[in-house]
Amino acid sequence: MVSGCAQGGDGSDVPPAAGQQQAKADRQRAKADRQRAKERHAAKLRAAHKARVAAAKRWGLKKVPLLPPRPPAGKPEITTRKGFEVDGHDGLPPVFTTVPTKQKVVFLTIDDGAEKDPAFLRMMSELKVPYTAFLSGFLVKDDYGYFEKMQTGGVVLNNHTLRHPYLPGLSYARQKREICGMQDMIEKRYGKRPTLFRPPFGSYNEDTLHAARSCGIKYAPLWNEEVFVDRWEYREWDREIHPGDIVLSHFRGRAHWKGTMPDMVRRFLNKVTAEGYAVARLEDYL
Ligand SMILES: [Zn+2]
Repeated sequence: MVSGCAQGGDGSDVPPAAGQQQAKADRQRAKADRQRAKERHAAKLRAAHKARVAAAKRWGLKKVPLLPPRPPAGKPEITTRKGFEVDGHDGLPPVFTTVPTKQKVVFLTIDDGAEKDPAFLRMMSELKVPYTAFLSGFLVKDDYGYFEKMQTGGVVLNNHTLRHPYLPGLSYARQKREICGMQDMIEKRYGKRPTLFRPPFGSYNEDTLHAARSCGIKYAPLWNEEVFVDRWEYREWDREIHPGDIVLSHFRGRAHWKGTMPDMVRRFLNKVTAEGYAVARLEDYL
């Protein structure tokens, strides 16, 4: 009689076939591997947290910055903020100040490029706080290497024109030279053509967005708050930060304001962390 059981009918143990023994050993090994991987992952998380605590202390933060949540699987739909449209805006890069999300995240964007403080690069990479740079050519070209280090650290370098003019005062052709010339400069120097463009002073017209679109720009993010070394400024009447807000600051130092880039970052992080916000990467949401 053929029995499917390992146990013989007379109660004596029938040794499992070699194949079965092998399968059992494989399962045990796989289980041990999974356990070890889990322990390694937990140890890595503990080490990363320890490093973040140490970095926060080293840079004088009141609290350890919060880790951003995983970005949403489906990208949010970015539309132009009400009142910020130009005539015939459909199909032009959207102009927005907040990314629609319920996650408690804000996005840090830093403009122009005048101050090239090595301490700022160290601080941001040690704290692992993401940000996006909007660069003006005339401020970048005396030290391309500074922004190359930034890019190597994972920061996306975006377009803020060649010479930082008030764009609505220029013809379409001159606006195009300012915007598309900067596209070419960033691509030539840094190997990547930006898809984000921020008009200087946040000022633009229909020509600006047509010119930007013509050379590869997909989005025109503005900002909802601005942070300085000594204060915050708000676009909204409630003077609050909101989920998905884009925060503006500048590459500035003691020549422009009463403090350094790290002083500005401290002011920024102390507030957003205290209010339960994490800093996320703008490009992950676009
Ligand atoms: Zn600017």
